[in-house]
Amino acid sequence: MGVKILVVEDEEKLARFIELELKHEGYEVEKAHDGRVALDMALAGDYTLILLDIMLPGLNGLEVLRRLQNEKPTPVILLTARDAVMDKVSGLDAGAIDYITKPFAIEELLARIRVALKTHCNNNQNADLKDYPELNDGLDNLNISVNKESGQSEIFMIKDLVLDVPKHRVSYRGEEIELTNREFLMLKTLLENIDIVLSRDTLLEKVCGYDYVGETNVVDVYIRYLRTKIDEKYDIKLIQTIRGVGYVIKSE
Ligand code: CA
Repeated sequence: MGVKILVVEDEEKLARFIELELKHEGYEVEKAHDGRVALDMALAGDYTLILLDIMLPGLNGLEVLRRLQNEKPTPVILLTARDAVMDKVSGLDAGAIDYITKPFAIEELLARIRVALKTHCNNNQNADLKDYPELNDGLDNLNISVNKESGQSEIFMIKDLVLDVPKHRVSYRGEEIELTNREFLMLKTLLENIDIVLSRDTLLEKVCGYDYVGETNVVDVYIRYLRTKIDEKYDIKLIQTIRGVGYVIKSE
């Protein structure tokens, strides 16, 4: 028995795309395009995880979620439209474990699924995960996917923050964070060196180039920008200052 995922999405092209990607990752996939059908399938079936769109014909996703949660605790990740803040709040209140905002990078969805499987499906799925070495990669707090051709890390995920190198995109719980190029580079450098304290000189070279002439306190400025946009906005402790040495992002 592998990991079995129910994809509930009425946009058939998108559903088909998600299905192909998930199957490529080795998951078993079933689909529903209608809320009522989805609820019946979810109640009758034995799914490890459900991806649930909110705007659905038949029965909307939040209603499917509420009725399902009364009956069984299958973990649900909601697919929500951009800016549908109320949907996100109602969805989490109704018991969804996570949500992702459409349109999303498939790598981000896959990363969130790995985290969900680790966090919410441990009790009865440990045996299954052993059959999926690629899932075990996600069993750390820090989750890195590696481009098999270049050997470069492409996606970093820590504390619900996702940095997607190919898409040049950073998000927290699906909410996109707008970063300048240098802020992005700074964050990427820290994530590439998780648990390693980087000096201001090292960071400066990575972010501004080795021939940069100027003050190293430009690093502090970018760190401050990042903290405002991430640490303070989402009330998390991501970037730590090591006095007299530099900065680090820790894996826990
Ligand atoms: Ca829809």
